[in-house]
This record gives sequence, structure tokens and C-alpha cells, in this order.
Amino acid sequence: MPIVKDLTAYKNVWVFAEQRQGKIMPVAIELLGEGRKLADEIGTELCAIVLGNKVEDLTKELVAYGADKVYAADHELLEKFTTDAYTKVISDAIGEIKPEIILMGATHIGRDLAPRVAARVDTGLTADCTILEIDAEDKKILQTRPAFGGNVMATIVCPDHRPQMSTVRPGVMDKAQRDDARTGEIIKLDVKLEKKDVRTEVLEIVKTVGELVSLTDANVIVSGGRGLGKAEGFDLIKQLADKLGGVVGSSRACVDAGWIDHSHQVGQTGTTVKPNLYIACGISGAIQHLAGMQESDIIVAINKNANAPIFDVADYGIAGDLYDVVPMLIDALDNVDN
Ligand code: FAD
Repeated sequence: MPIVKDLTAYKNVWVFAEQRQGKIMPVAIELLGEGRKLADEIGTELCAIVLGNKVEDLTKELVAYGADKVYAADHELLEKFTTDAYTKVISDAIGEIKPEIILMGATHIGRDLAPRVAARVDTGLTADCTILEIDAEDKKILQTRPAFGGNVMATIVCPDHRPQMSTVRPGVMDKAQRDDARTGEIIKLDVKLEKKDVRTEVLEIVKTVGELVSLTDANVIVSGGRGLGKAEGFDLIKQLADKLGGVVGSSRACVDAGWIDHSHQVGQTGTTVKPNLYIACGISGAIQHLAGMQESDIIVAINKNANAPIFDVADYGIAGDLYDVVPMLIDALDNVDN
């Protein structure tokens, strides 16, 4: 039998404050920025929920980033993320406190956790949202995300169930400003968790080299595309990226060709980025690539086809062979350094 919920009992916007090894993930700060706008439009409070073992310091940080209330779940079984433990604790909190909206980052953890929680509390979930707005009339959240291979944008509402749940990709929303003078309420959750609730045990967390590429936080990204012609082409891209203090990105074509790891991929099925400077070398500008980088502050495109679509979004376009242009840029930067 379907569970009938009193929708009016659900109040406030919640942000899942994902933390890893005691550090709040940047996406949580972005969601607090976005959550603040949504909460103000509805006329409700912005809350954060943080799980871990000894998370007290994090609660203060979350208040500084805009949370009016922070729900803290402290328990030794929450030291490392496990789907079982996190799902139980968050679902219990939802059942008890009844938030109206929950935002989670579409990180590996968020993508694992959000659908489990949504199923457990019998509600819907819109994954990978790029725009969140509040309907001026009924105050429901309008969740917009790319659909059908990025060719249309779909706006999704959750009219009959609560909470309304969205995941948002890292790097899409603007970060909240930190203000250490802010005050907020810290509420300790009564965590009911036993060893038998958690069916997996995390023995060790091993970071792969790929994970060390942080495209989301980079101020400068130099990306290579199929125009490189070969995997070794990325050596040149890396030289330019290093000169600019940036990191190496890639189109999917190069990842599919096995030239570079997927962690470098920018775009709809890669990472969404918003650096100060994005340099696209030998990338045509397919819609799925643009979806991940067109919000960058300044876009420079280097392509030997002057009609390539990448030039439509570029602030500066250089029509030429990247193997001529990129070394010239590196030389020019060397001269600036000297
Ligand atoms: P191409 O389209 O082949 O372009 C190569 C460009 O290099 C050309 O414009 C050419 O003129 C230029 N060139 C060639 N030689 C040189 C040279 N020597 N100097 C300068 N320029 C040169 N793509 C992504 O990037 N990210 C995604 O996340 C992504 N997700 C996808 C999801 C779906 C569901 C689908 C269907 C596709 C997705 N794609 C994604 C693939 C996307 O559609 C394109 O196929 C891909 O972006 C093309 O990569 P590219 O621009 O490197 O290669």
C-alpha cells in the first residue's frame, strides 16, 4: 500500500555536507550557496546534515558557510563512508525531522547514497541537476538537468512526495561565502546504529592517481582533444598547463582512445568545470563537451578548422595547428617569466 504523507509537515532545505577524512567537500559549500537562495525564496531555513566520527569542528564551518541549523551525526561506525550506515542515519533523520528539500553532491558517494535514501523514504530523486529554481506560485523546487544525450534540458518536479531530492554535479553552483561571525544552531542526532546494520567493512581507502586530478578546483585547465592525434600529444598539453599552474583536461574522444584516464574528462559524462581560464586544443566543441565547460570565465580555443563549433563559445579563437600554436604559447610564457 502506498505511504500517504502529510506534505505540509515537511519544512526546510537540507544540504548533505559530505566530508572525507574530516574535510568538507567543495560541492557541499556550493550546495550551501545554492541552498541559501532556495531557502530564502521559500522563506524557510537552510540546514546542513553532516555524518562522521567527531564532526564537531565541521559543524562550525557549516554555520560559517550559511547553515542556520546543522544536524550532526557522530558515531564511530560513521568514521568511513558506508552506504548502509549513511542511508540508515539520513533516512532516520528524514523520518523524524521531515525536510522539504535535500540537496546532495553528485560525487561518487552522493551518487551511491542519494538513490538509496530516496528509495528508503519513498520519494523521487532528480540526479545531476544543473539548475535549481523555486516555482513562484507553489514553492516547489524545479529541477533542471540535461536529458537525451544533452540535447534537451528537462525540468522535473516532485509533486506528491517529500522530501524533494536532487543531486548536483560538483563545480556547477557558486560556492557560499564564509563568514565566521555567523551563528547557528547545532543539533546532535541520536544515532541508532549497530554493527549488524552495516554489511560492509572498509579496510583501507587507496587513492588512485586519477583521483588526484582535481578539475573542479582548478583555476586553469588546458584540455586536449582528438586533434592531438596520439597519446603523447598530452605531453605538450601538460607543458602548457604546468606553465600556467593549471591541470590537464580532455575530451571524451581521447579517453575512449585510451590516451588519458577518465578522471581528466570534461563534459556531460565527465566533470563539469568552471575555471578562470579554459584552453581547448584540438577539440571540436560537441554539445556534450560544451555542457561541461561553457561556464568557464575565459575560453581559448585552438583548432585548425576555423568553422569548428568550439569557436562559438570561445572568447579567443586561434585557427591553426595546435602543434605550431601551443609551443609558441609556451615560448611566449617563458619570455614573460624571464
Ligand atoms: P573531434 O570531434 O574528432 O574533434 C577533433 C578536433 O580537432 C576537430 O575539430 C579538428 O578540426 C581538430 N584538429 C585536428 N587536428 C588538429 C591539429 N593538429 N591542431 C588543431 N586542431 C586539430 N565528449 C566529451 O568531450 N565529454 C563528455 O563528457 C562527453 N559525453 C558524451 C555523452 C554522450 C551520451 C555522448 C553521445 C557523447 C559524449 N561525448 C562527450 C562525445 C562527444 O559527442 C564528442 O564525440 C567528443 O567530444 C569529440 O571529442 P573531440 O572534440 O576531441 O574530437
